[in-house]
Amino acid sequence: MKVTILGVRGSIPTDGPEFCEYGGATSCILVEADGRAIYLDAGSGLLRAPNTGEAEVSILLTHSHMDHILGLPFSPVLLSDKTLDLYLKKREGLSAKDQLERLMAPPLWPVGVEQYPSEVLFHDLELPMQLGRVQVTGMESNHPGGSTIYRLDLEGRSLVYATDYEHTEEKQSELSEFARDTDLLLYDAQYTEEEYARMKGFGHSTVAEGMKVLKQSGAKRIVFVHHDPRHSDAKLREMENALTDHRASFAKAGDVFEL
Ligand SMILES: [Zn+2]
Ligand SMILES: [Zn+2]
Repeated sequence: MKVTILGVRGSIPTDGPEFCEYGGATSCILVEADGRAIYLDAGSGLLRAPNTGEAEVSILLTHSHMDHILGLPFSPVLLSDKTLDLYLKKREGLSAKDQLERLMAPPLWPVGVEQYPSEVLFHDLELPMQLGRVQVTGMESNHPGGSTIYRLDLEGRSLVYATDYEHTEEKQSELSEFARDTDLLLYDAQYTEEEYARMKGFGHSTVAEGMKVLKQSGAKRIVFVHHDPRHSDAKLREMENALTDHRASFAKAGDVFEL
């Protein structure tokens, strides 16, 4: 399994020299496994989607908050002649298609999904499921409006993508169980402890809470994602330098993990 970080900024894209190192594009992770290209989220990082040749393309969305879907309208995957499967849980009575058409339809966007060269097959997410030999499981996050935490398993290798997640005692135990012995845990650490004290209920977590899950789950590695748009490279470097466990790091756009 090859995991490429295409975008890790949370909430809204950032731009400027002070964001170059960690990257300003929003959530998008590419997992290449079993001859497939599986995108986790479709934030503006999706604009950097590489040519994956003949690989079957799927997009697994955690939820339809704007930062997780705004790469779709201009993404190379929609502008290709491919067929792609898009999965998103039905929420507030809206199907996956209904949710995406909130963004990709007039007046917010001039053309609908069906006018793109690609063929998008919408699926209301139901887990567990298989993408070829890749087993996809999920748990419900704690996030305003809801969000899905994914786990992908293939031949004894796995990753867990826990973004847009706010810790509670109960959810921490559930997530630790869900991420049991995973090779790579991508974890939402948008806030510093100080910020979190002011931002409770906004649906994001911290490094310290992520480290608890790392310990309790037996995960081999934790990589922090969903960087706050107000955190410059200098701030993120400071947060990363404060980590004392070699199994922990902050994601940068372009990072690649071979599992
Ligand atoms: Zn988000
Ligand atoms: Zn969100």
